[in-house]
Amino acid sequence: MQIAVFSAKPYDIRFLTERNAVHGHGLHFFDARLAAETAQLAHGKPAICAFVNDQLDRATLAALAAGGTRMVAMRCAGFNNVDLRAAAELGITVARVPAYSPHAVAEHAVAMMLTLNRQVHRAWNRVRENNFALDGLLGFDLHGCTVGVVGTGSIGRLVARILRLGFGCEVLAHDVRPDPELVAIGVRYLRVMDLAPLADIITLHCPLTPQTRHLINATSIEAMKPGVMLVNTSRGALMDTEAVIVGLKSGHIGYLALDVYEQEADLFFEDLSNEIIQDDVFQRLLTFPNVLITGHQAFFTREALTNIADTTLGNLSDFEQGRPLANRIGVEHLGH
Ligand code: NAD
Repeated sequence: MQIAVFSAKPYDIRFLTERNAVHGHGLHFFDARLAAETAQLAHGKPAICAFVNDQLDRATLAALAAGGTRMVAMRCAGFNNVDLRAAAELGITVARVPAYSPHAVAEHAVAMMLTLNRQVHRAWNRVRENNFALDGLLGFDLHGCTVGVVGTGSIGRLVARILRLGFGCEVLAHDVRPDPELVAIGVRYLRVMDLAPLADIITLHCPLTPQTRHLINATSIEAMKPGVMLVNTSRGALMDTEAVIVGLKSGHIGYLALDVYEQEADLFFEDLSNEIIQDDVFQRLLTFPNVLITGHQAFFTREALTNIADTTLGNLSDFEQGRPLANRIGVEHLGH
């Protein structure tokens, strides 16, 4: 099948091309991000492949459908950027990669906690300048501290297990569907507002839905422990960034780790080192010594990219050959 692959970076081209050997699809790679204006690149292709910051709104999907596209294969787990209702109405099938390496994201979230707590990012710079002073690098033991895990699906449950079984943290969790296996290892499920005042660290692993948008806001921050560490490797819009900046300025938020950012579509995955960044909120975040930002790289491991390529190409082959599509997503997933 002929497939237009949008937002294709060198690593996408490498892994998709390697794993396509057994599928034999015609892959057409475009660096361009998918939006209504770029949809014409897919003209005449029955399928397209897109990623987290591609814009699959009604206008884009209508343009794709007009060009003959009948399938969208998302090479990611999240699908908040896809108008599933419009896709259904236009007769476009949508599939995703539900879990490619939950370990990759869970391990990155823990790496960010350790980096911020033990100030590894600052220590690295100091030592390069022969500054071996320790003042300002004081951390705390993760062992025994209380971590709130919001969303205990495939990624959140691993974070909970690493922190509980590996570090000996008290783990509190919040999910609309509690996981009995986590309860069996001593994880306690609470309502999010009950978890907030107890947690030294709060890490987000729920999807972005209308219910979770700006879950972290001025009110929920107010309810948190002073000095709390917030970690977001899930989706930027789970946090009201301006409210988080107020919390950082007052010191109520002691540490902030972000792998995702509400306006990341204008920034992430591109080399902007020669550009003037126009996003003042993002620039303000970068001024805090206790803020650590990575550019949506939590998923970025060899294992994850291999699994993403295999599942995406498998979804495309299933669609082409009329087999049941296990990873199909539709309107019934809205609000999930
Ligand atoms: P998942 O669907 O397996 O788990 C999500 C969990 O959140 C489920 O247990 C669900 O019941 C729960 N949930 C849903 N609504 C909730 C709510 N209102 N409050 C609390 N919990 C709620 O998803 P996953 O694979 O664990 O991924 C989680 C998120 O991580 C994805 O939605 C995606 O946005 C993000 N992600 C980020 C990266 C990255 O590279 N940074 C990579 C993959 C996924």
